[in-house]
Amino acid sequence: MKILLLGKTGQVGIELQRTLLAQGDLIALGRAEADLEKPAALLDVLRAHSPDVIVNAAAYTAVDKAEGNSRAAHAINAESVSVMADYARARDALLVHYSTDYVFDGAKDSPYEPTDTPNPLSVYGRTKRKGEEAIVDSGCRYLILRTSWVFSAHGSNFLKTILRLAKERDELNVVADQHGAPTSAELIADVTALAVAGHRQGLCNSGIYHLTAAGQTSWHGFACHIVARAAANGATIKVTPGHIQPIPTDAYPLPAPRPKNSRLDTSALSDALLLQFPDWTVHVNRTVDQLTTSMEYSV
Ligand code: NDP
Repeated sequence: MKILLLGKTGQVGIELQRTLLAQGDLIALGRAEADLEKPAALLDVLRAHSPDVIVNAAAYTAVDKAEGNSRAAHAINAESVSVMADYARARDALLVHYSTDYVFDGAKDSPYEPTDTPNPLSVYGRTKRKGEEAIVDSGCRYLILRTSWVFSAHGSNFLKTILRLAKERDELNVVADQHGAPTSAELIADVTALAVAGHRQGLCNSGIYHLTAAGQTSWHGFACHIVARAAANGATIKVTPGHIQPIPTDAYPLPAPRPKNSRLDTSALSDALLLQFPDWTVHVNRTVDQLTTSMEYSV
């Protein structure tokens, strides 16, 4: 089985290079070999490699920049995804694609189920939803895995930003009225490999699934946990949980609106694959430990 991974340099893409190896012959491409801003050229790349499975970890993920660059976000998150879906439909290939909590408006007061009606608030969310729709409408075999609040030891993410700021500043203000589940790229990649195998075995049918760690917190709770763990590891940081002030979203305006409720119900995926997802603190602890093993960590 030939697997084509797109977006090999991203947080999730890096981890997928590890977990997909056991699933078949893996070809991993980056932007230089497959530029998703050029959807027409992507078809030639797909034809050249002729994969049985496409795993698309590439996306325009700069949520705030997307507000002023909707053309590129749409090309990468929607048009290129449509090309992948049409290819998969024509060749009976499986398309594995990632989507986001940002397809929802966050107004629901309980975790979102995969069948809940999307209502994205931002350009990023709208383009990601368009990508989902293109896949579903194509009639191809697909697994759309919506996730949230992704972090890893690689790349840019909230966890690494907090560790850096905790060294530089005396005090932090962090939003406390948005709730979700911080999810490691490692977990996403591990579960993706199981989902690909599960699809082949008939355990995991085409559909939209939610894939996050278990439990929930706020950005403020996430930040407090990160610095508490780093301090317990002996890291030289100035900020402790007591120095992190909870603030409302309104006090930290950003170009793209965020959903207040980012919680996703993962039971469909955990039931299909007979898995129990770990609490969000498990992988956060491991990543903080990895990044703070010396007193003079650099992030
Ligand atoms: P990253 O931002 O870490 O990585 C994005 C990847 O997309 C990089 O490999 C990047 O390549 C690639 N990419 C961007 N533009 C292009 C382009 N024009 N052509 C080819 N490749 C391109 O993303 P994550 O790993 O965090 O996200 C993986 C998936 O999860 C995405 O679908 C995202 O929407 C979704 N998601 C992410 C969340 C998060 O908090 N990060 C939350 C919810 C969902 P390069 O290195 O060259 O820039």
